[in-house]
Amino acid sequence: MADLGFGLMRLPLRDPDDQTSIDMELLKKMVDEFLAAGFDYFDTAYYYHRNTSEAAIKEALVERHPRGSFRLATKMPMKLLESREHQESIFSEQLENCGVEYFDCYLLHNICRSYYPTAEKLDTFRFLRERKEEGRIRRLGFSIHDDADFLERVLERHVEDTEVVQLQVNYLDWDSLETQAGRCCEVCESYGIPVIVMEPVKGGALANVPAEVAEMFGNTTPGMSPASWAMRFAGGIGCVETVLSGMTDMDQMMDNIRTMRDLRPLDDHELEVLERAKGIIRSSVAVPCTGCRYCVDDCPKAIAIPEFFSIYNDAVGTPSKGLPPQRFYYLNLTGIHGKASDCIGCGRCEESCPQHLPIRELLKDVAKRLEVY
Ligand code: SF4
Ligand code: SF4
Repeated sequence: MADLGFGLMRLPLRDPDDQTSIDMELLKKMVDEFLAAGFDYFDTAYYYHRNTSEAAIKEALVERHPRGSFRLATKMPMKLLESREHQESIFSEQLENCGVEYFDCYLLHNICRSYYPTAEKLDTFRFLRERKEEGRIRRLGFSIHDDADFLERVLERHVEDTEVVQLQVNYLDWDSLETQAGRCCEVCESYGIPVIVMEPVKGGALANVPAEVAEMFGNTTPGMSPASWAMRFAGGIGCVETVLSGMTDMDQMMDNIRTMRDLRPLDDHELEVLERAKGIIRSSVAVPCTGCRYCVDDCPKAIAIPEFFSIYNDAVGTPSKGLPPQRFYYLNLTGIHGKASDCIGCGRCEESCPQHLPIRELLKDVAKRLEVY
């Protein structure tokens, strides 16, 4: 039965506009609750929360609980790597950031077409195999945001150094053209490699489904939240060993714990209901951005891309007569960030976007809808 993992990319914040303002007191309570419920897997990464997630988990978990009572995973930031020496220094820095002697799981972060050449050039798989032989890594693998053919290409070449693959899997992406979650799971299964699921709730979008879908779910299985449907879908896939959830508050965590402690995969009737729900959800979300924030650091105009898409989705999903009320939130943000119309079309954001969104085009839609005065 699939396990629940604590994803450390969407930690509670004291200031929602400052990704580094992690609410440490709440995080410590959540860590304690998670361990007390019998779960022990934590997944961070160098980039998360503007490079502060690793240090936060050191303070909330590593310094407060015995090393043997939890498993900690982090990732090599492929996007940043400049040289072999650099990957060595980053790996050492991560051990220090996290305050550990070894990682229970270590992944190359997002081996996609853009960053795979770096892994080949710097021989990253071999570098990490050597760290594993030294005892600094217990289990090795990679995360990927690319299609099934590319996943297969990487596995053909590196299957011996791959004990686990981290994939974006949720019911909306299961048969999508870009993410191909279903086909990616099949590829992993054919190699006998277990899957760790990321984005099971698609950045929260599947927790906040349209009212019609929430009603369908409630009528079918009373008392279960929309998020629990998403978790049960991911946890019910044969090759999945762990479902990560980026939990931002205690309520989300308790809901996930209830769902995953006695995981009951969706039955045939629920899967039929889910197929109908998918159609309704797809027609209601204008921009399927997960809020991962991979795009923001490289933008020369400091455009608040995920925030703008979230506001835009809200404006499109709840149309109003006259000017959209959401424009106030938009205008507030443009006081400290570039506007959507400031985009110079350099395309750097699109290279980083795991959802393969046409960000430049979408920003034109955002500007048209929200830059109204
Ligand atoms: S294309 Fe536009 S939004 Fe994307 S990084 Fe360049 S300036 Fe920023
Ligand atoms: S636009 Fe893409 S990279 Fe940026 S936050 Fe959304 S999903 Fe992530």
